[in-house]
Amino acid sequence: MNNPRKENEVLLKVDNFSLDLVTENGNLPVIQDISFQIHQGEFLALVGESGCGKSVCSLALTKLLPSNLAKYKSGSILFQEEDIIQMDASEIQNLRGNKISYVFQEPFSSLNPLKKIKDQIIESFLIHKMGTKEEAIHKAEILLEKVGITDISQRLNSYPNHMSGGMLQRISIAMALITDPILLIADEPTSAIDVTIQAQLIQLLMEMKKQFSLSVLFISHDIALVSHMADRIAVMYAGQIVEIGKIDEVIDSPKHPYTQALLNSYPSSDDINKELEVIPGIVPSPLEYPIGCHFAERCKHKMDVCISRKPKSRHITETHSALCHLLEAG
Ligand code: SF4
Repeated sequence: MNNPRKENEVLLKVDNFSLDLVTENGNLPVIQDISFQIHQGEFLALVGESGCGKSVCSLALTKLLPSNLAKYKSGSILFQEEDIIQMDASEIQNLRGNKISYVFQEPFSSLNPLKKIKDQIIESFLIHKMGTKEEAIHKAEILLEKVGITDISQRLNSYPNHMSGGMLQRISIAMALITDPILLIADEPTSAIDVTIQAQLIQLLMEMKKQFSLSVLFISHDIALVSHMADRIAVMYAGQIVEIGKIDEVIDSPKHPYTQALLNSYPSSDDINKELEVIPGIVPSPLEYPIGCHFAERCKHKMDVCISRKPKSRHITETHSALCHLLEAG
């Protein structure tokens, strides 16, 4: 394995990280003081509605946002104890596509339509000087077989527009694995795919995680989906992580009203008569984040203090915390 794993290692440690997006309307505080960790071999799901900052966060982790638009304001992003924010372009290049790989939502837009699959899939392997072109192609063939692609030599010589979305997403997963990454960041990898093959792709990701001892940061709007596969969940709302904990802590005993509302908005196979909850309103724009709790406008438990003062993160257990004044009152 090109990138060795250390058991129980804290691989990624994000501490009090804040980031603004620079726009002509002013700086948007899209990430506000977030903290989380991912351990070796762990699957962390980052969930929340569209517009709450999940994708910006995932791109910011390896400085994938344009440098003129992203203003890293405070905090640190340590990967194997080295601060990504302080890394120069060559250090980042060495990390990205090597130790940290991405699978994006839309495989058609992340693959070059003018290049053969073969040339795209081996590119990172060659850039990171992991072996010869023959070795790269051999590894690509092995990975394509693992992700369930048939007629491999024909596929390698094809162009992306000759294939379905599901097949291209399998190829994207193989492409992300060719450098033996330690951390895979998957940003809504199944949401642009035909619903009939979403489950197959999720199953595939889980198998790849196990086979390659991968750590995974999985971005999703679907808390019900991730509740079946993650080790831990971080719930994001309006630029903040409002609750984080082990899967059973967050799913079975959610403490933040937003997490509770998200869970109540999905049907349950255990309770077919469950009345689904609608969360009123929409996620506020970063230009309009309130002084107090960001969820206050939509929260049915809102108190006066929620309007005037930001809640602080409180621990419920050693591994479970949430950002809500109700916990302070209790
Ligand atoms: Fe609701 Fe107040 Fe908690 Fe915010 S701090 S989630 S408004 S109870």
